[in-house]
Amino acid sequence: MTKIKFATVWLAGCSGCHMSFLDLDEWLLELANYVDVVYSPVGCDLKEYPEGVDICLVEGGVANEDNLELIRKVRARTKTLVSFGDCAVTANVPAMRNILKGADPVLQRGYIELADLKPQLPHEPGIVPELLDKVLPVHEVVPVDIFMPGCPPDAPRIKATIEPLLRGEKPKMEGREMIKF
Ligand code: SF4
Repeated sequence: MTKIKFATVWLAGCSGCHMSFLDLDEWLLELANYVDVVYSPVGCDLKEYPEGVDICLVEGGVANEDNLELIRKVRARTKTLVSFGDCAVTANVPAMRNILKGADPVLQRGYIELADLKPQLPHEPGIVPELLDKVLPVHEVVPVDIFMPGCPPDAPRIKATIEPLLRGEKPKMEGREMIKF
């Protein structure tokens, strides 16, 4: 049996969606019968997002230049892209800074006023990526195939999304369990 190439990506999010993914517990062992994890912060320490990925769950909003470059690469190399959790679907918590005018007030507060040591500013080359003026939900940057809301989506919702995709079917977000928060 050819296994499905499966990936997860972590953009601007708290990693809570990935923690919820790990809450799938023993079902992860069943999932492993059907997928090869080819890229993921919780399962595969690969630096470059590979070509030919079948399914990718993307956690987090698009907040900086690194996120932007990665999500474009992910879209170009992935058949089914799932917006995984509210930060990916709406930009959610990271977008709280969107009420400010651009990224400079965030940098001023986070990197200068609260810094104990000499801060590494995003404008300095090589270390911290430039922040975008606004944090964007994934679908405002690239087309998204499936939306999986929740902060985080709980394990049953994650399973209900992935299971049909393994069969080549589109998941149905129907019923109280799939839409209550
Ligand atoms: Fe964290 Fe919630 Fe955002 Fe997921 S949706 S990354 S749990 S804040």
